[in-house]
Amino acid sequence: MSSRALGPEATPPSRLAERRPPRPATAGRHGRPARRAGAAPAAPAVVLVKNPPPFRMASRELHPGSTVVTAGTVEIGVGGLVVMAGPCSVESRQQIREAARRVKAAGADMLRGGAYKPRTSPYDFQGLGRKALEWLAEAGRESGLPVVTEVLSPEDVDLVADHADLLQVGARNMQNYALLRRLATAPKPVLLKRGPSATIQEWLLAAEYLLSGGNPRVVLCERGIRTFETATRNTLDLAGVALVKQLTHLPVIVDPSHGTGKRALVAPASRAAAAIGADGLLIEVHPCPERALSDGEQSLDPEEFAELMHTLRPRALAARA
Ligand code: PEP
Ligand code: MN
Repeated sequence: MSSRALGPEATPPSRLAERRPPRPATAGRHGRPARRAGAAPAAPAVVLVKNPPPFRMASRELHPGSTVVTAGTVEIGVGGLVVMAGPCSVESRQQIREAARRVKAAGADMLRGGAYKPRTSPYDFQGLGRKALEWLAEAGRESGLPVVTEVLSPEDVDLVADHADLLQVGARNMQNYALLRRLATAPKPVLLKRGPSATIQEWLLAAEYLLSGGNPRVVLCERGIRTFETATRNTLDLAGVALVKQLTHLPVIVDPSHGTGKRALVAPASRAAAAIGADGLLIEVHPCPERALSDGEQSLDPEEFAELMHTLRPRALAARA
């Protein structure tokens, strides 16, 4: 699809080019202009907001129009539901081509797949790196789907940006400031996952690093947070999604795969995310989840994904009625 997404057209949101960013370098705390002792009083601020939030550039208070982020040919935040789907990890050329073909046939808008994997244990599969990136890009071209993949370190940003349309910052790296600073100057949009223990304010301040560093193309992704509950892999904070949509003009998507950790919960969580107003979904789909090298237990097979896609369209429409 080009700019098609599940759901009706919304009132056209404002474009990034039309927005005049504040100048964080010269502003003091609480958004007031910085002033050295003895210096002439600074010019009055253009936008006067009482108690501005610390995430100034991400804040909807200062930028009321919703931002649309374009990744390849897909527009995120335009009013519908953008579905990104594919395996947790790129495991072989054949696996990612098959995954791309099946998710495309089911109506996905973008292809996901990890080449560099942030694993809790150093003994687990770490991803196939450059080779996987090349297979992913090829599968994306073949299927006509823009691709999203994770970048783990600042040194890999150029390489990953050469192969992907959307650069994912994984949950474990949300506060990796060296990576965020590097991505702020990258030529591609960034998908910023919420850290497993990050507050909403910390998440939006991480986005602020990208925005204030020069990259206005930021999409947020809720993927579950760590709580006392262990019955699900993480606790998917959907109320947080609704709140973040009010606090920021940036698009917000939901990852129901990592958010629940259980295949049987992915479909209901996806529908709930659509109903609460998420701009998109990031869903793990593997041609054969039983044989997946990572996250098989939370991956849908292609038939389950196709079935889910059938049920999503009416929800996305209802949420915006
Ligand atoms: C992933 O998307 O495969 C991933 C590792 O996600 P997260 O950073 O949310 O754990
Ligand atoms: Mn995964």
